[in-house]
Amino acid sequence: MGKTTLDPDDWSLFRASAHKMLDDALNRMETVRSGRVWTPLPEEMKSALTSDIPEAGVDHETLRQNLADLLPYGVGNTHPRFFGWVHGAGNPGNIFAEITAAAMNANLGGRDHGAIYVEKQVIGWCRKLMGFPEDASGLIVSGTSMATIIALKVARDQRMGFECRNTGIAGSTLVGYASAQAHSCLGRAFDLLGLGSESLRKIPCDAHFKMDLAALQETIEHDRAQGLEPFVVIGTAGSVNVGAIDDLSALADIAQKEKLWLHVDGAFGATAILSEELRERLAGMERADSLAFDFHKWMQVNYDAGCVLVRSGEAHLRSFSGRAEYLTGAGRGLAAGSPWPVDFGPELSRGFRALKVWAHLLEHGVEKLGAVISENCSQATYLGKRIEASDKFELLAPVTLNIICFRYVSEAVNDLNDLNREIVITLQESGIAVPSTTLLNGQLAIRVNITNHRTELQDLDLLLEEAERIGDELVN
Ligand SMILES: *Cc1c(COP(=O)(O)O)cnc(C)c1O
Repeated sequence: MGKTTLDPDDWSLFRASAHKMLDDALNRMETVRSGRVWTPLPEEMKSALTSDIPEAGVDHETLRQNLADLLPYGVGNTHPRFFGWVHGAGNPGNIFAEITAAAMNANLGGRDHGAIYVEKQVIGWCRKLMGFPEDASGLIVSGTSMATIIALKVARDQRMGFECRNTGIAGSTLVGYASAQAHSCLGRAFDLLGLGSESLRKIPCDAHFKMDLAALQETIEHDRAQGLEPFVVIGTAGSVNVGAIDDLSALADIAQKEKLWLHVDGAFGATAILSEELRERLAGMERADSLAFDFHKWMQVNYDAGCVLVRSGEAHLRSFSGRAEYLTGAGRGLAAGSPWPVDFGPELSRGFRALKVWAHLLEHGVEKLGAVISENCSQATYLGKRIEASDKFELLAPVTLNIICFRYVSEAVNDLNDLNREIVITLQESGIAVPSTTLLNGQLAIRVNITNHRTELQDLDLLLEEAERIGDELVN
């Protein structure tokens, strides 16, 4: 018996299985349109996934087969008729980067090596794209939820004084503001940062689901009168329910006047800056103190990858730096290159997520990615018009970006919410299309989000046809 190693005994057998694995993956991606959107995991596979931890391993052909068996059972977001929540569709090119990253197995907590420079370049590109200054800092993270926690921690620490990192925030009276349509990750960030989710005030919206600025002003004044300390206002660039973009310029003015940190949640909407037609609607975003957004949504990078940008690189550093002795940097050698990514976020060991973003931008360029975003918005307008023209459906919110909220209507039915929920579930189970639901002013909407470079108009036609057929069947 030789020494224990995890490398293959026979590289040529390993290589043959690896090549087949690659073909399995490519076949899956090449034929995605022809299959069902969502396929639930079969019962026998569910029970196989409750077996005990393996004592001994398997050969690579068996491993490959086990992996290939999983391929059809994703969320369905690679399919052109996936319209649920806000999921990007991903793209085959990412396989290049993911395999390369696996081969490098780089740890991007810090130190001086090639992968770090790739991440730095991605951050530099984003800084420029989003209109942030040269000395702004950034970090690639798992998604907007994590980006938000990081950004709001910098905002909190700056306001409390950075010594609160050591002394804690007991007795904090900090409060912040976001629209009633803002994403739930904001309240979670307040919770995680010890501020309490109730310290995030939800400001009512106007008829277009944008934050009501007069109500914001009133709430700030009211809170101050109560002895509370407003510290942050959060603008949403692309709300998850209807795709509304808050008036970011006006929010920047208010933040300036009130001396508040302006954070923008641009999870998917910020990347609309790539679209020539949409860019101007994000005016004011470049004035934010911090910005959180995703690569894995409208930019079509495969899960998961998001980004945080912080205008003051110095504040960002002061909020997260402080390494143990064994992590001390150096002027030369592998420990050079300070500050490291660990100085800008909570994670030490970090994978090479940046590579798939970098390779994606290299492969496609920003023009094409912007065109996908513009096309999705035209498709949303198209679907909105079809719904307006139909007497079976009504729109529940104006279509202003890439999201359409509508419902099937019938005089014969008392509970339209139940009916429309059933339409959505039936559609999902049919494998034909996947919209999701949301509630708007108490009314349950069939929600169609288009952040999908594979979607064509015929996919939207089919969705509407099927929703109508199912609705008719349920009513009659
Ligand atoms: C998706 C989304 C988030 C959360 O982002 P994750 O990448 O899922 O963590 C936050 N805000 C908005 C508006 C979103 O659409």
